[in-house]
Amino acid sequence: MMHRYSLPPQFDYIIIGGGTAGLIVASRLTEDAETSVLLIEAGSDRIGDSRIDTGLVTSLYGDNDLDWNFLCGPKFM
Ligand SMILES: Cc1cc2nc3c(=O)[nH]c(=O)nc-3n(C[C@H](O)[C@H](O)[C@H](O)COP(=O)(O)OP(=O)(O)OC[C@H]3O[C@@H](n4cnc5c(N)ncnc54)[C@H](O)[C@@H]3O)c2cc1C
Repeated sequence: MMHRYSLPPQFDYIIIGGGTAGLIVASRLTEDAETSVLLIEAGSDRIGDSRIDTGLVTSLYGDNDLDWNFLCGPKFM
């Protein structure tokens, strides 16, 4: 298995943002085993973080280390 920081020198596609859209596009593109994709997500390496792995979404809200904390709507303008 390749070390996760040993990246190949080039990719067929580079996707910025591992959110809903980015992950779907990456998943569809890599259905072709010949296609290489680099998916870049902001922030620290969260592999092994139980709050991510278990999907405890509400535990992430308001944590500046994990949440962009963008607020919108008339109340916040
Ligand atoms: C509180 C809340 C609850 C929601 N609940 C639901 C729900 O129950 N059902 C539902 O269908 N939708 C829900 N939504 C809406 C849903 O989350 C969004 O519609 C969806 O995530 C949008 O997908 P996206 O790929 O456009 O953006 P995102 O999923 O936000 O993905 C964008 C990604 O890009 C990353 N990024 C940003 N800037 C950079 C950068 N410079 N470099 C690298 N990466 C970067 C971000 O970290 C993020 O991971 C909810 C939204 C919120 C805020």
